[in-house]
Parts: sequence; structure tokens; C-alpha cells
Amino acid sequence: MANAASLKGRQQPITWVDRYVEERLREFDTRVAKRSRINALRNARNLHLTDERRALDEERARLREFRNRPCGAMTRAGYPCRRKGLGRGGRCANHGGLSTGPKTQGGKLRIAQAQRQRWQRWRHRQGV
Ligand SMILES: [Zn+2]
Repeated sequence: MANAASLKGRQQPITWVDRYVEERLREFDTRVAKRSRINALRNARNLHLTDERRALDEERARLREFRNRPCGAMTRAGYPCRRKGLGRGGRCANHGGLSTGPKTQGGKLRIAQAQRQRWQRWRHRQGV
């Protein structure tokens, strides 16, 4: 309403243009007020959604931080290890975190056989 009121303190006679502009400005003000009421209602209705979204974002950030946390084990050079600590106790594969898989021929055969059996059980469960 500030815009509509500002036309009034002038010295010149009020013309049809002034009245027209004043009317348009009043219409604009009512439209803005209506829109802001609608937006306020919508925001109140969707408040729980933004809460859920924020909780999800925080969880994701926490997981990202956990994933990117360095191993931190003291190296022989005297610095903390900077590899990603993905394994047990948050250590990297060099410092007791993750297994890097079987190395011997027998170990490789054993893990391959175990994996074949796992797939067989899975197919059996699926009824294939
Ligand atoms: Zn490490």
C-alpha cells in the first residue's frame, strides 16, 4: 500500500492516469498479499517434509564424513596415514582394516567355490 499512498502528497491535479496507476498498484498489492498468504499456508503444510529432508541430508553428510575419514595410523615416517580408513576400526588395508583378498592358488579356488555355492543357493531360493 506504500506505493498507492505515495501518489497523494503531490501538488499537481489528479488526472485519470494517476487514478489508473493507483488502481493498478492497489491490485498489485492485493495480489502480492494473497500470494504471500498462500505461500505461508503451503510452507506450514510442508514443514514436516523439510524436516525429513534435513534429517536425510544430515545422515548423508555424517556417512560421507565417516567414509572419507582418514586411517590415521602412525606411519614409519612419523605422520598419520592419509588413506581412507574403510575397514575394521576405521583403518586402511595397510593398517589392519580391510582384507585384500586371497593370494595363494588354494585360497583363490576356495573363495571361488564358496561364491559358486552362494549363487546356487540364491538361484534355488528364487526358484530358478
Ligand atoms: Zn593406514
